[in-house]
Amino acid sequence: MSDTSVGEHTGPSKQSYDVVIVGSGMGGGTLAYALADSGVDVLLIERGDFLPQEKQNWDPREIFEGHRYANAEQWYDTSGKPFSPGTYYYVGGNTKLYGSSLVRFRREDFQSTEHEAGESPEWPFSYDDFAPYYARAEEVYRVHGDQFDDPTLPRDEPFPYPAIGHEPPVQEAADALRRLGYTPSNIPLGIDLRDGGGCIRCQTCDGFPCRLLAKSDADVRCVRPAIASGSVELLTNAYVERVLTDSTGQRATGVRLRHRGTELVVDARTVVVSCGAVNSAALLLRSASAEHPDGLANSSGMVGRNYMVHNNSIMVGINPLKKNTSEFQKTLYINDFYTSGTADHPYPLGHVQLIGKLQGEMVKGQRPLIPKWALSQATARSIDWWLFTEDLPEPDNRVTLTDDGNIQIAWTPNNTRAHEVLVREMRKILRKIGYPFVFSQGTGIEVNSHQAGTVRAGTDPATSVLDADCRAHDVDNLYVVDSSFFPSLPVMNPALSIAANAFRVAEVITDRVATRTHHTPAESASL
Ligand SMILES: Cc1cc2nc3c(=O)[nH]c(=O)nc-3n(C[C@H](O)[C@H](O)[C@H](O)COP(=O)(O)OP(=O)(O)OC[C@H]3O[C@@H](n4cnc5c(N)ncnc54)[C@H](O)[C@@H]3O)c2cc1C
Repeated sequence: MSDTSVGEHTGPSKQSYDVVIVGSGMGGGTLAYALADSGVDVLLIERGDFLPQEKQNWDPREIFEGHRYANAEQWYDTSGKPFSPGTYYYVGGNTKLYGSSLVRFRREDFQSTEHEAGESPEWPFSYDDFAPYYARAEEVYRVHGDQFDDPTLPRDEPFPYPAIGHEPPVQEAADALRRLGYTPSNIPLGIDLRDGGGCIRCQTCDGFPCRLLAKSDADVRCVRPAIASGSVELLTNAYVERVLTDSTGQRATGVRLRHRGTELVVDARTVVVSCGAVNSAALLLRSASAEHPDGLANSSGMVGRNYMVHNNSIMVGINPLKKNTSEFQKTLYINDFYTSGTADHPYPLGHVQLIGKLQGEMVKGQRPLIPKWALSQATARSIDWWLFTEDLPEPDNRVTLTDDGNIQIAWTPNNTRAHEVLVREMRKILRKIGYPFVFSQGTGIEVNSHQAGTVRAGTDPATSVLDADCRAHDVDNLYVVDSSFFPSLPVMNPALSIAANAFRVAEVITDRVATRTHHTPAESASL
């Protein structure tokens, strides 16, 4: 077993904290780490528990057929049909099962970009403002990469660790792509392949928990070190029901939570919500009060709106005559379509990256009528990709609550033509590089691993919920630091940007809390 004794709490040790963070995933876990040793005391509240370290961590049947670690409640679409979302409630949040592809958004992602379906809006800060925090996040999450091989990469300095390189079948694909004039590059990855590091480059990384704790997830890299620092306390199995405010509604006073069957109120000078984009919006909506009748911090009406998830397809190329012997397949990506399109679609198409090596058990759920032996034969000869295209913020794509308090998602994909063109182009490319049989499948409402945008940041309080520091326009000491703040969802994996932003916001919070401690209580209240 891992050292999970830190999770064995009977309740918070105090009534009041400088900072209460709700949610211990990429946003909340990184923020807790960034605040450790900064002179503020922090309570990190997580509805889940530590994910156990056990042999089933690496068993595809347990995970993909038995859904062993799927612990989210059902959500509902607008017709009232329930679905099981691809989101996980554990210390470390979704990063416990993520693929640790830790990439920076590109410089132009922070600016407005034109797509066929409309505008991807600019962010309230620039790439250059953000770059130092990317560097910090890459250091903490031990990112391995190559600064030279991808011309879209906005960096001059080396990665903290060198790229891990490709196994022979992936290198063959890279060489063939290069011969066609494309630019295959190394995916920046957060795994512990340092000298003496614990990673064994296995097949069970992307979509699996790491049994060796050698994947840079938010639990291992941030929450555990934060607790070890002594200035961060973790409360697990604690579901936050509401953020509370004073009688003016302009200051958060703490949270109400349910912990092992007991209702508790914890006081805080600063409250940070970081529950993942869907749950953060749901928490603010549930925190409606007389002062905030439409949900906390929702005078703009934007809480829950502009839900984005990317347009995603999985694409499998099969060469019946050639086995793919890769163990750690997820090392290569292509950005040739990141900012450009085709003659018939001269707009950005998106991003293509390899995923963890598929195995028969992993696709059985999608293809129940095909015998598992046939799926195993096919996946032994396949190369497996994830294609994603930017979707645009659209107010009617939104998170709401049903009358009985459940989560409901209204989602109509947009900018879909760009995705169709990307799928078409990639299909041609895979055939040219030696995979005559190509299958692709778009993902549905339940695949929301890149969920974002529901508590958007901006400079105008009429059209955004948070300011550029991720502080609520309406509530002076309330912050949101998960992917909810994204004004757009650039077509890269989001986790590194969430972590970098947490480091950025940590500085803002530390400065404000430090300023308050040098004032009288009356002065502090007005800060
Ligand atoms: C299978 C998979 C693969 C992925 N691969 C990649 C990848 O390779 N690269 C990448 O960049 N991204 C990847 N992602 C996405 C990445 O994991 C997320 O973008 C990231 O974890 C989001 O961070 P977050 O802080 O917004 O939310 P989360 O990490 O989901 O954290 C939210 C936390 O809040 C807790 N919580 C929710 N509600 C409450 C409440 N009311 N009270 C208390 N606690 C609460 C949850 O239990 C959870 O721990 C992947 C995701 C999945 C599922």
